[in-house]
Amino acid sequence: MPIVNRVAALQGEIAAWRHDMHAHPELLYDVHRTAANVVDKLKSFGCDEVVTGIGRTGVVGIIRGRKPGTKVIGLRADMDALPLEEETGLPYKSTVPGKMHACGHDGHTAMLLGAAKYLAETRNFAGSAVLIFQPAEEGGAGGLAMIKDGLMGRFGIHEVYGMHNHPGLPVGQFAIRPGAMMASADHIVIDLEGKGGHAAKPHLSIDTILVGAQIINQLQSVVARNIDPLEAAVVSVCMFQAGHTDNVIPQHARLRGTARALTAEVRERLQTRIGEVVEGTARLYGAKAKITYTNGYPVLVNHERQAAFAAGVAREIAGTDKVDTAAAPVMGAEDFAFMLQDRPGAFIFVGNGDSAGLHHPAYDFNDEAIPVGTSYWVRLAETALAG
Ligand SMILES: [Zn+2]
Ligand SMILES: [Zn+2]
Repeated sequence: MPIVNRVAALQGEIAAWRHDMHAHPELLYDVHRTAANVVDKLKSFGCDEVVTGIGRTGVVGIIRGRKPGTKVIGLRADMDALPLEEETGLPYKSTVPGKMHACGHDGHTAMLLGAAKYLAETRNFAGSAVLIFQPAEEGGAGGLAMIKDGLMGRFGIHEVYGMHNHPGLPVGQFAIRPGAMMASADHIVIDLEGKGGHAAKPHLSIDTILVGAQIINQLQSVVARNIDPLEAAVVSVCMFQAGHTDNVIPQHARLRGTARALTAEVRERLQTRIGEVVEGTARLYGAKAKITYTNGYPVLVNHERQAAFAAGVAREIAGTDKVDTAAAPVMGAEDFAFMLQDRPGAFIFVGNGDSAGLHHPAYDFNDEAIPVGTSYWVRLAETALAG
């Protein structure tokens, strides 16, 4: 059973919704226009309930099937864009300077709206489909905010599913795996204090630039020497700020970076070792280091049974040979990880073809993926809620 015919007929309409969102990107929780648009559409489709203000600007739509049943599944899309300048030259390119839908969340929201339209029209299932539109996926933990507002309990969600487009994977294909599929992402801030002074008298100073450089080098030993080589881990220092001119040794320096892992154990080990290495290295040079280590998104872990189920639905849509069920995990992170900590479910990648990468200024969601992703959603709901 390939692409759903009715969904294929909706492709142009769904693409038009996406282009409108693409032209009006909004960041983090500030997705007022997008959320209002989602609300209007869900109401016009005849959703049984449309609830706003879950996780500040999150929106939830509920569609009840016409067969009797009590099972409830959640289908989740994200609505927020990114703070970067679009360089696509598309007719529907961003009208907001410095903001862009560079992760395809416009496509995710449009596809879930398309699924909502179909499901509200047909209602060929038992139980309820809960459509979850979350804000602030890009670093703001909007999914967690929705959970804290009672998303799962309030709507009685039993299982939850998510989807992300994947540049490099051909359109019409899916990729998924059971277990860890995306990394945890923790934030590291290191504030160094040395002793400022004249560049000509280094012996009277404690040079925070030298200390920072040594810390960056030493941190590379954490992944290389403290983590099992068969495990995955990343430690990247991505910001180093110090100094203002060429004849002053700066008193202060600041480093920022990220630590990523695919298991809770490795995640913990990274945190411990990074702390020890930073403190030990600073002490070696007589500097003070204050490390602020903040836990970001956890490891995204697909539940075995639901991942197998999702893969089965994807095979129905795309064909058996178009679904990679042993996809390699990626070290990017996803807010949906919080939802999978709360309920069984699965996250799947849908092919975006040969596009620019996610978060790139030339990226665009591929409209050809719309019938694929939307068909996946509607078949997933109808199959999970077959009664
Ligand atoms: Zn992103
Ligand atoms: Zn994304």
